Amino acid sequence: MSITDTIVAQATPIGRGGISILRISGTETKKLALILLGKLPKPRYANYLSFFDINGKILDKGIALWFPAPNSFTGEDVLELQGHGGLVIVNLLLKCILSQSNVRIAHPGEFCKRAFINNKLDLTQAEAISDLIDAHSEQAAKSAINSLQGNFSTLINKLVKKLINLRIDIESEIDFPNEKTNFLFIKKIAMNYNSILINLDKIYYEANCSSILREEKKIVIIGKPNSGKSTIFNLLIGYNTAIVTDIPGTTRDILREYINIDGIPLCIIDTAGLRKSNNKIEKIGINYALNEIKKANIILLVIDSTTTIFTDSTKMLLTLKKYISKDLSIIIIRNKIDITHETSKIVKLNNYPLIYLSAYTGEGIDLLKNYLKKNINLNNNTENNFLARQRHLEALKKAKNYLIKGKNYIQNIYTYDLLAEELRLVQQELNKITGNFTSDNLLERIFSTFCIGK
Ligand code: GDP
Repeated sequence: MSITDTIVAQATPIGRGGISILRISGTETKKLALILLGKLPKPRYANYLSFFDINGKILDKGIALWFPAPNSFTGEDVLELQGHGGLVIVNLLLKCILSQSNVRIAHPGEFCKRAFINNKLDLTQAEAISDLIDAHSEQAAKSAINSLQGNFSTLINKLVKKLINLRIDIESEIDFPNEKTNFLFIKKIAMNYNSILINLDKIYYEANCSSILREEKKIVIIGKPNSGKSTIFNLLIGYNTAIVTDIPGTTRDILREYINIDGIPLCIIDTAGLRKSNNKIEKIGINYALNEIKKANIILLVIDSTTTIFTDSTKMLLTLKKYISKDLSIIIIRNKIDITHETSKIVKLNNYPLIYLSAYTGEGIDLLKNYLKKNINLNNNTENNFLARQRHLEALKKAKNYLIKGKNYIQNIYTYDLLAEELRLVQQELNKITGNFTSDNLLERIFSTFCIGK
Protein backbone atom coordinates (compact mmCIF):
# COMPACT_ATOMS: atom_id res chain seq x y z
CA MET A 1 0.00 0.00 0.00
CA SER A 2 1.44 3.33 -0.99
CA ILE A 3 0.54 6.75 0.35
CA THR A 4 1.42 8.17 -3.08
CA ASP A 5 -1.56 6.43 -4.69
CA THR A 6 -4.72 8.39 -5.17
CA ILE A 7 -7.61 6.69 -3.40
CA VAL A 8 -11.33 6.62 -4.07
CA ALA A 9 -14.24 5.14 -2.13
CA GLN A 10 -17.94 5.44 -1.79
CA ALA A 11 -18.58 7.28 1.48
CA THR A 12 -22.29 6.44 1.61
CA PRO A 13 -23.63 2.90 2.15
CA ILE A 14 -23.65 0.75 -0.96
CA GLY A 15 -27.10 0.19 -2.44
CA ARG A 16 -30.06 2.18 -3.66
CA GLY A 17 -30.50 5.61 -2.11
CA GLY A 18 -31.22 9.28 -2.75
CA ILE A 19 -27.59 10.32 -2.95
CA SER A 20 -24.28 8.54 -3.22
CA ILE A 21 -21.05 10.25 -2.28
CA LEU A 22 -17.70 9.37 -3.80
CA ARG A 23 -14.55 10.64 -2.17
CA ILE A 24 -11.22 10.98 -3.93
CA SER A 25 -7.95 11.93 -2.24
CA GLY A 26 -4.39 12.21 -3.51
CA THR A 27 -2.17 13.77 -6.12
CA GLU A 28 -4.21 12.61 -9.13
CA THR A 29 -7.38 14.25 -7.78
CA LYS A 30 -6.92 17.48 -9.69
CA LYS A 31 -6.50 15.60 -12.98
CA LEU A 32 -9.57 13.50 -12.16
CA ALA A 33 -11.61 16.64 -11.41
CA LEU A 34 -10.72 18.01 -14.85
CA ILE A 35 -11.76 14.75 -16.55
CA LEU A 36 -14.95 14.20 -14.52
CA LEU A 37 -16.16 17.79 -14.30
CA GLY A 38 -14.45 19.44 -17.26
CA LYS A 39 -13.01 22.06 -14.91
CA LEU A 40 -11.75 22.63 -11.41
CA PRO A 41 -14.68 23.64 -9.21
CA LYS A 42 -14.48 26.67 -6.94
CA PRO A 43 -12.69 25.44 -3.78
CA ARG A 44 -14.87 24.66 -0.76
CA TYR A 45 -18.11 25.66 -2.52
CA ALA A 46 -21.02 23.41 -3.48
CA ASN A 47 -20.77 23.35 -7.29
CA TYR A 48 -23.73 21.92 -9.20
CA LEU A 49 -22.06 20.29 -12.21
CA SER A 50 -22.29 17.49 -14.77
CA PHE A 51 -20.19 14.39 -14.19
CA PHE A 52 -18.58 13.09 -17.39
CA ASP A 53 -16.94 9.82 -18.35
CA ILE A 54 -13.55 9.73 -20.09
CA ASN A 55 -15.21 10.21 -23.47
CA GLY A 56 -16.93 13.35 -22.29
CA LYS A 57 -20.37 11.73 -22.06
CA ILE A 58 -22.59 12.85 -19.18
CA LEU A 59 -22.99 10.14 -16.55
CA ASP A 60 -24.83 12.13 -13.90
CA LYS A 61 -25.36 15.60 -12.51
CA GLY A 62 -24.72 16.54 -8.92
CA ILE A 63 -22.74 18.48 -6.38
CA ALA A 64 -18.96 18.57 -6.54
CA LEU A 65 -16.88 19.77 -3.61
CA TRP A 66 -13.24 20.57 -4.24
CA PHE A 67 -10.82 20.86 -1.31
CA PRO A 68 -7.30 21.65 -2.53
CA ALA A 69 -4.44 20.52 -0.26
CA PRO A 70 -3.63 21.19 2.49
CA ASN A 71 -7.09 22.45 3.48
CA SER A 72 -8.92 19.16 3.31
CA PHE A 73 -9.81 16.31 5.62
CA THR A 74 -6.80 14.23 4.56
CA GLY A 75 -4.47 17.16 3.98
CA GLU A 76 -4.26 16.10 0.30
CA ASP A 77 -6.29 17.29 -2.69
CA VAL A 78 -9.80 15.96 -2.09
CA LEU A 79 -12.81 15.84 -4.39
CA GLU A 80 -16.28 14.81 -3.26
CA LEU A 81 -18.94 13.95 -5.78
CA GLN A 82 -22.52 13.77 -4.62
CA GLY A 83 -24.54 12.08 -7.32
CA HIS A 84 -27.73 10.08 -7.59
CA GLY A 85 -27.76 7.03 -5.37
CA GLY A 86 -28.06 4.27 -7.95
CA LEU A 87 -25.64 1.38 -7.99
CA VAL A 88 -25.08 1.60 -11.75
CA ILE A 89 -24.29 5.31 -11.79
CA VAL A 90 -21.82 4.97 -8.92
CA ASN A 91 -20.13 2.01 -10.61
CA LEU A 92 -19.82 3.87 -13.91
CA LEU A 93 -18.19 6.81 -12.14
CA LEU A 94 -15.88 4.50 -10.20
CA LYS A 95 -14.91 2.68 -13.38
CA CYS A 96 -13.96 5.95 -15.00
CA ILE A 97 -11.96 7.10 -11.94
CA LEU A 98 -10.15 3.77 -11.59
CA SER A 99 -9.18 3.76 -15.27
CA GLN A 100 -6.58 6.41 -14.46
CA SER A 101 -3.12 5.30 -13.39
CA ASN A 102 -2.08 5.47 -9.73
CA VAL A 103 -5.70 5.48 -8.61
CA ARG A 104 -7.16 2.67 -6.55
CA ILE A 105 -10.00 1.86 -4.16
CA ALA A 106 -9.25 3.03 -0.62
CA HIS A 107 -8.61 0.55 2.16
CA PRO A 108 -10.79 0.72 5.29
CA GLY A 109 -10.00 3.86 7.27
CA GLU A 110 -7.45 5.06 4.73
CA PHE A 111 -8.82 8.61 4.52
CA CYS A 112 -8.49 8.88 8.33
CA LYS A 113 -5.04 7.31 8.21
CA ARG A 114 -3.88 9.92 5.71
CA ALA A 115 -5.41 12.66 7.88
CA PHE A 116 -3.38 11.27 10.79
CA ILE A 117 -0.16 10.99 8.76
CA ASN A 118 -0.62 14.56 7.52
CA ASN A 119 -1.16 15.82 11.10
CA LYS A 120 -4.78 16.75 10.56
CA LEU A 121 -5.81 14.56 13.49
CA ASP A 122 -4.01 12.71 16.24
CA LEU A 123 -4.67 9.04 16.82
CA THR A 124 -7.33 9.45 19.53
CA GLN A 125 -9.24 11.83 17.24
CA ALA A 126 -9.04 9.44 14.30
CA GLU A 127 -10.27 6.63 16.53
CA ALA A 128 -13.07 8.88 17.77
CA ILE A 129 -14.39 9.20 14.21
CA SER A 130 -14.74 5.45 13.95
CA ASP A 131 -16.25 5.26 17.45
CA LEU A 132 -18.74 7.94 16.55
CA ILE A 133 -19.86 5.98 13.51
CA ASP A 134 -20.09 2.76 15.53
CA ALA A 135 -21.63 4.31 18.65
CA HIS A 136 -24.42 2.17 20.11
CA SER A 137 -25.85 4.91 22.27
CA GLU A 138 -26.32 8.65 22.56
CA GLN A 139 -23.85 8.76 25.46
CA ALA A 140 -21.18 6.95 23.48
CA ALA A 141 -21.72 9.25 20.48
CA LYS A 142 -21.48 12.38 22.64
CA SER A 143 -18.35 11.10 24.34
CA ALA A 144 -16.80 10.24 20.96
CA ILE A 145 -17.49 13.80 19.78
CA ASN A 146 -15.66 15.07 22.84
CA SER A 147 -12.68 12.89 21.94
CA LEU A 148 -12.86 14.07 18.35
CA GLN A 149 -12.68 17.66 19.56
CA GLY A 150 -9.42 16.74 21.25
CA ASN A 151 -10.45 16.46 24.93
CA PHE A 152 -8.63 13.18 25.45
CA SER A 153 -5.49 14.30 23.60
CA THR A 154 -5.45 17.55 25.55
CA LEU A 155 -5.44 15.66 28.85
CA ILE A 156 -2.66 13.36 27.67
CA ASN A 157 -0.62 16.20 26.16
CA LYS A 158 -0.85 18.21 29.40
CA LEU A 159 0.40 15.20 31.31
CA VAL A 160 3.24 14.67 28.83
CA LYS A 161 4.23 18.32 29.23
CA LYS A 162 4.48 17.91 33.02
CA LEU A 163 6.42 14.72 32.47
CA ILE A 164 8.87 16.44 30.12
CA ASN A 165 9.51 19.17 32.70
CA LEU A 166 10.20 16.57 35.33
CA ARG A 167 12.50 14.66 32.97
CA ILE A 168 14.42 17.87 32.23
CA ASP A 169 14.98 18.46 35.96
CA ILE A 170 16.08 14.88 36.53
CA GLU A 171 18.27 14.55 33.46
CA SER A 172 20.06 17.83 34.07
CA GLU A 173 20.81 16.54 37.55
CA ILE A 174 22.33 13.42 35.95
CA ASP A 175 24.30 15.39 33.35
CA PHE A 176 25.49 18.13 35.70
CA PRO A 177 25.48 16.72 39.19
CA ASN A 178 25.20 19.53 41.62
CA GLU A 179 27.21 19.36 44.77
CA LYS A 180 24.49 21.15 46.57
CA THR A 181 21.66 18.88 45.45
CA ASN A 182 19.69 18.71 48.56
CA PHE A 183 16.64 17.65 50.36
CA LEU A 184 14.56 20.48 48.86
CA PHE A 185 15.36 19.43 45.30
CA ILE A 186 14.38 15.82 46.01
CA LYS A 187 11.22 17.06 47.72
CA LYS A 188 10.30 19.08 44.62
CA ILE A 189 10.92 16.06 42.36
CA ALA A 190 8.81 13.83 44.62
CA MET A 191 5.99 16.36 44.66
CA ASN A 192 5.87 16.73 40.87
CA TYR A 193 6.18 12.99 40.50
CA ASN A 194 3.19 12.38 42.77
CA SER A 195 1.14 14.99 41.01
CA ILE A 196 1.77 13.15 37.69
CA LEU A 197 0.79 9.85 39.28
CA ILE A 198 -2.45 11.31 40.69
CA ASN A 199 -3.23 12.90 37.33
CA LEU A 200 -2.64 9.65 35.52
CA ASP A 201 -4.90 7.80 37.96
CA LYS A 202 -7.66 10.32 37.34
CA ILE A 203 -7.37 9.92 33.57
CA TYR A 204 -7.33 6.14 33.94
CA TYR A 205 -10.48 6.21 36.05
CA GLU A 206 -12.27 8.40 33.52
CA ALA A 207 -10.98 6.30 30.62
CA ASN A 208 -12.18 3.14 32.28
CA CYS A 209 -15.67 4.55 32.86
CA SER A 210 -15.92 5.82 29.30
CA SER A 211 -14.67 2.60 27.73
CA ILE A 212 -17.77 0.92 29.14
CA LEU A 213 -19.83 3.08 26.79
CA ARG A 214 -17.85 1.87 23.83
CA GLU A 215 -17.84 -1.80 24.48
CA GLU A 216 -21.30 -3.13 24.84
CA LYS A 217 -21.76 -5.58 27.66
CA LYS A 218 -22.97 -9.08 26.97
CA ILE A 219 -25.84 -10.36 29.04
CA VAL A 220 -26.54 -14.04 28.57
CA ILE A 221 -29.86 -15.51 29.67
CA ILE A 222 -29.65 -19.12 30.78
CA GLY A 223 -31.77 -21.59 32.71
CA LYS A 224 -33.77 -24.76 32.32
CA PRO A 225 -36.16 -25.14 29.39
CA ASN A 226 -39.52 -23.43 30.01
CA SER A 227 -38.27 -21.28 32.87
CA GLY A 228 -39.22 -18.19 30.84
CA LYS A 229 -35.89 -17.16 29.28
CA SER A 230 -37.36 -16.19 25.91
CA THR A 231 -40.21 -14.29 27.56
CA ILE A 232 -37.68 -12.28 29.60
CA PHE A 233 -35.57 -11.75 26.46
CA ASN A 234 -38.60 -10.39 24.58
CA LEU A 235 -39.57 -8.20 27.53
CA LEU A 236 -36.08 -6.69 27.78
CA ILE A 237 -35.76 -5.92 24.09
CA GLY A 238 -39.31 -4.58 23.95
CA TYR A 239 -40.73 -6.74 21.19
CA ASN A 240 -41.22 -10.39 20.32
CA THR A 241 -38.37 -12.00 18.50
CA ALA A 242 -37.83 -15.21 20.47
CA ILE A 243 -40.49 -17.87 20.12
CA VAL A 244 -42.30 -18.42 23.39
CA THR A 245 -44.01 -21.79 23.84
CA ASP A 246 -44.62 -24.19 26.65
CA ILE A 247 -42.80 -26.89 24.67
CA PRO A 248 -39.42 -27.37 26.33
CA GLY A 249 -36.33 -27.07 24.13
CA THR A 250 -37.67 -24.66 21.48
CA THR A 251 -34.79 -22.16 21.56
CA ARG A 252 -31.82 -23.91 20.02
CA ASP A 253 -30.13 -21.13 18.11
CA ILE A 254 -28.55 -18.24 19.93
CA LEU A 255 -30.69 -15.10 19.70
CA ARG A 256 -28.88 -11.82 19.98
CA GLU A 257 -30.38 -8.32 20.23
CA TYR A 258 -29.02 -4.92 21.18
CA ILE A 259 -30.79 -2.78 23.70
CA ASN A 260 -30.08 0.43 25.40
CA ILE A 261 -30.94 0.99 29.06
CA ASP A 262 -30.68 4.74 29.71
CA GLY A 263 -27.91 5.12 27.18
CA ILE A 264 -25.97 2.00 28.16
CA PRO A 265 -25.57 -0.38 25.23
CA LEU A 266 -26.24 -3.99 26.07
CA CYS A 267 -26.21 -7.09 23.96
CA ILE A 268 -28.81 -9.55 25.24
CA ILE A 269 -28.38 -13.17 24.30
CA ASP A 270 -31.07 -15.83 24.66
CA THR A 271 -29.80 -19.39 24.78
CA ALA A 272 -31.13 -22.92 24.61
CA GLY A 273 -32.38 -24.27 27.91
CA LEU A 274 -29.72 -26.16 29.83
CA ARG A 275 -30.71 -29.76 30.48
CA LYS A 276 -29.49 -33.23 29.65
CA SER A 277 -30.76 -34.01 26.16
CA ASN A 278 -30.38 -36.78 23.62
CA ASN A 279 -31.77 -34.66 20.83
CA LYS A 280 -28.90 -33.87 18.44
CA ILE A 281 -30.06 -30.36 17.55
CA GLU A 282 -30.88 -29.45 21.13
CA LYS A 283 -27.44 -30.69 22.21
CA ILE A 284 -25.78 -28.35 19.69
CA GLY A 285 -27.91 -25.51 21.08
CA ILE A 286 -26.80 -26.35 24.62
CA ASN A 287 -23.14 -26.30 23.53
CA TYR A 288 -23.66 -22.90 21.92
CA ALA A 289 -25.15 -21.70 25.21
CA LEU A 290 -22.12 -22.91 27.17
CA ASN A 291 -19.85 -21.04 24.74
CA GLU A 292 -21.82 -17.82 25.20
CA ILE A 293 -21.60 -18.19 28.97
CA LYS A 294 -17.82 -18.08 28.71
CA LYS A 295 -17.95 -14.77 26.81
CA ALA A 296 -20.61 -13.12 28.99
CA ASN A 297 -20.22 -10.12 31.26
CA ILE A 298 -23.42 -10.82 33.14
CA ILE A 299 -25.48 -13.99 33.41
CA LEU A 300 -29.19 -13.99 34.05
CA LEU A 301 -29.94 -17.38 35.55
CA VAL A 302 -33.70 -17.85 35.16
CA ILE A 303 -35.49 -20.12 37.55
CA ASP A 304 -39.12 -21.17 37.32
CA SER A 305 -40.62 -20.39 40.73
CA THR A 306 -43.45 -22.87 40.16
CA THR A 307 -41.15 -25.87 39.86
CA THR A 308 -37.88 -24.90 41.50
CA ILE A 309 -37.13 -24.89 45.16
CA PHE A 310 -34.23 -22.90 46.60
CA THR A 311 -31.89 -25.87 46.95
CA ASP A 312 -32.30 -26.42 43.18
CA SER A 313 -31.22 -22.82 42.54
CA THR A 314 -28.13 -23.30 44.69
CA LYS A 315 -27.33 -26.53 42.87
CA MET A 316 -27.63 -24.78 39.51
CA LEU A 317 -25.35 -22.02 40.72
CA LEU A 318 -22.70 -24.51 41.73
CA THR A 319 -22.87 -26.23 38.34
CA LEU A 320 -22.68 -22.89 36.60
CA LYS A 321 -19.58 -21.88 38.52
CA LYS A 322 -17.66 -24.63 36.74
CA TYR A 323 -18.07 -22.78 33.45
CA ILE A 324 -17.52 -19.18 34.43
CA SER A 325 -14.71 -16.93 35.53
CA LYS A 326 -14.65 -15.70 39.12
CA ASP A 327 -15.46 -12.06 38.45
CA LEU A 328 -18.49 -12.70 36.25
CA SER A 329 -21.72 -11.27 37.64
CA ILE A 330 -24.67 -13.58 38.04
CA ILE A 331 -28.20 -12.37 38.61
CA ILE A 332 -30.75 -15.01 39.57
CA ILE A 333 -34.26 -14.40 38.32
CA ARG A 334 -37.10 -16.13 40.11
CA ASN A 335 -39.69 -15.97 37.36
CA LYS A 336 -43.46 -16.57 37.20
CA ILE A 337 -44.30 -14.98 40.55
CA ASP A 338 -47.77 -14.22 39.17
CA ILE A 339 -48.48 -17.94 39.61
CA THR A 340 -46.83 -18.39 42.99
CA HIS A 341 -48.30 -15.09 44.27
CA GLU A 342 -44.95 -13.84 45.54
CA THR A 343 -44.20 -10.12 45.45
CA SER A 344 -41.49 -8.64 43.27
CA LYS A 345 -38.38 -7.88 45.27
CA ILE A 346 -34.64 -8.15 45.24
CA VAL A 347 -32.83 -10.20 47.90
CA LYS A 348 -29.55 -12.11 48.15
CA LEU A 349 -28.98 -15.81 47.60
CA ASN A 350 -25.45 -17.04 48.34
CA ASN A 351 -24.29 -13.46 47.86
CA TYR A 352 -25.89 -13.24 44.43
CA PRO A 353 -28.80 -10.91 43.74
CA LEU A 354 -32.07 -12.80 43.45
CA ILE A 355 -34.84 -10.91 41.70
CA TYR A 356 -38.46 -12.01 41.97
CA LEU A 357 -40.40 -11.12 38.84
CA SER A 358 -43.04 -12.13 36.37
CA ALA A 359 -42.02 -11.94 32.75
CA TYR A 360 -45.66 -12.54 31.94
CA THR A 361 -47.10 -9.49 33.75
CA GLY A 362 -43.88 -7.44 33.67
CA GLU A 363 -43.97 -7.04 37.46
CA GLY A 364 -40.44 -6.63 38.80
CA ILE A 365 -38.78 -6.06 35.41
CA ASP A 366 -37.84 -2.52 36.50
CA LEU A 367 -35.97 -4.01 39.46
CA LEU A 368 -33.91 -6.00 36.96
CA LYS A 369 -33.32 -3.05 34.63
CA ASN A 370 -32.25 -0.80 37.51
CA TYR A 371 -29.95 -3.45 38.89
CA LEU A 372 -28.34 -3.87 35.46
CA LYS A 373 -27.95 -0.14 35.06
CA LYS A 374 -26.31 0.30 38.46
CA ASN A 375 -23.96 -2.60 38.05
CA ILE A 376 -22.85 -1.98 34.51
CA ASN A 377 -22.31 1.72 34.57
CA LEU A 378 -19.51 2.65 36.92
CA ASN A 379 -20.41 6.28 36.69
CA ASN A 380 -23.79 7.64 35.92
CA ASN A 381 -22.69 10.69 33.95
CA THR A 382 -24.79 11.19 30.90
CA GLU A 383 -21.69 11.70 28.83
CA ASN A 384 -17.97 11.42 29.37
CA ASN A 385 -15.29 13.94 28.70
CA PHE A 386 -13.90 11.54 26.12
CA LEU A 387 -14.23 7.97 24.89
CA ALA A 388 -11.39 5.55 25.56
CA ARG A 389 -10.51 2.25 23.93
CA GLN A 390 -8.97 -0.85 25.39
CA ARG A 391 -5.57 0.02 23.92
CA HIS A 392 -5.66 3.42 25.67
CA LEU A 393 -6.39 1.71 28.98
CA GLU A 394 -3.50 -0.68 28.43
CA ALA A 395 -1.10 2.18 27.67
CA LEU A 396 -2.27 4.10 30.76
CA LYS A 397 -1.88 1.00 32.91
CA LYS A 398 1.66 0.38 31.63
CA ALA A 399 2.54 4.05 32.16
CA LYS A 400 1.30 3.79 35.74
CA ASN A 401 3.36 0.65 36.36
CA TYR A 402 6.52 2.41 35.17
CA LEU A 403 5.70 5.35 37.43
CA ILE A 404 5.22 3.07 40.41
CA LYS A 405 8.52 1.33 39.70
CA GLY A 406 10.27 4.69 39.30
CA LYS A 407 9.04 5.81 42.72
CA ASN A 408 11.70 3.58 44.31
CA TYR A 409 14.47 5.75 42.84
CA ILE A 410 13.25 9.22 43.85
CA GLN A 411 14.91 9.56 47.23
CA ASN A 412 18.44 8.77 46.04
CA ILE A 413 19.97 10.97 43.35
CA TYR A 414 22.51 8.24 42.54
CA THR A 415 19.63 6.21 41.09
CA TYR A 416 18.31 9.07 38.97
CA ASP A 417 19.47 7.45 35.73
CA LEU A 418 17.11 4.55 36.56
CA LEU A 419 14.36 7.01 37.38
CA ALA A 420 14.93 8.81 34.07
CA GLU A 421 14.60 5.54 32.17
CA GLU A 422 11.25 4.75 33.82
CA LEU A 423 10.00 8.22 32.94
CA ARG A 424 11.11 7.78 29.35
CA LEU A 425 8.99 4.63 29.20
CA VAL A 426 6.02 6.43 30.78
CA GLN A 427 6.22 9.09 28.09
CA GLN A 428 6.48 6.47 25.37
CA GLU A 429 3.26 4.82 26.59
CA LEU A 430 1.42 8.15 26.70
CA ASN A 431 2.67 9.00 23.22
CA LYS A 432 1.25 5.72 21.94
CA ILE A 433 -2.21 6.98 22.90
CA THR A 434 -2.03 10.15 20.83
CA GLY A 435 0.04 8.51 18.09
CA ASN A 436 3.23 10.49 18.67
CA PHE A 437 4.92 7.14 19.03
CA THR A 438 3.49 4.37 16.86
CA SER A 439 4.49 1.42 14.79
CA ASP A 440 3.16 0.64 11.31
CA ASN A 441 1.67 -2.49 12.79
CA LEU A 442 -0.35 -0.59 15.33
CA LEU A 443 -1.63 1.85 12.70
CA GLU A 444 -2.55 -1.03 10.43
CA ARG A 445 -4.45 -2.70 13.25
CA ILE A 446 -6.32 0.46 14.21
CA PHE A 447 -7.33 1.67 10.77
CA SER A 448 -8.24 -1.72 9.36
CA THR A 449 -11.28 -1.81 11.67
CA PHE A 450 -12.65 1.44 10.21
CA CYS A 451 -15.26 1.40 7.48
CA ILE A 452 -14.35 1.94 3.83
CA GLY A 453 -14.76 5.52 2.71
CA LYS A 454 -13.75 6.89 6.13
P1 GDP B 1 -37.84 -20.72 27.84
O1 GDP B 1 -37.95 -22.10 27.32
O2 GDP B 1 -37.05 -20.68 29.11
O3 GDP B 1 -37.36 -19.72 26.82
O4 GDP B 1 -39.31 -20.29 28.28
P2 GDP B 1 -40.40 -19.44 27.50
O5 GDP B 1 -40.09 -17.99 27.58
O6 GDP B 1 -40.60 -20.03 26.15
O7 GDP B 1 -41.67 -19.70 28.43
C1 GDP B 1 -42.17 -21.00 28.67
C2 GDP B 1 -43.63 -20.89 29.05
O8 GDP B 1 -43.76 -20.20 30.28
C3 GDP B 1 -44.45 -20.11 28.03
O9 GDP B 1 -45.72 -20.72 27.93
C4 GDP B 1 -44.58 -18.74 28.67
O10 GDP B 1 -45.73 -18.05 28.27
C5 GDP B 1 -44.60 -19.07 30.14
N1 GDP B 1 -44.09 -18.00 30.97
C6 GDP B 1 -42.90 -17.38 30.88
N2 GDP B 1 -42.75 -16.46 31.87
C7 GDP B 1 -43.89 -16.50 32.59
C8 GDP B 1 -44.37 -15.79 33.76
O11 GDP B 1 -43.71 -14.92 34.33
N3 GDP B 1 -45.60 -16.12 34.20
C9 GDP B 1 -46.38 -17.07 33.61
N4 GDP B 1 -47.57 -17.31 34.12
N5 GDP B 1 -45.97 -17.75 32.53
C10 GDP B 1 -44.74 -17.48 32.01
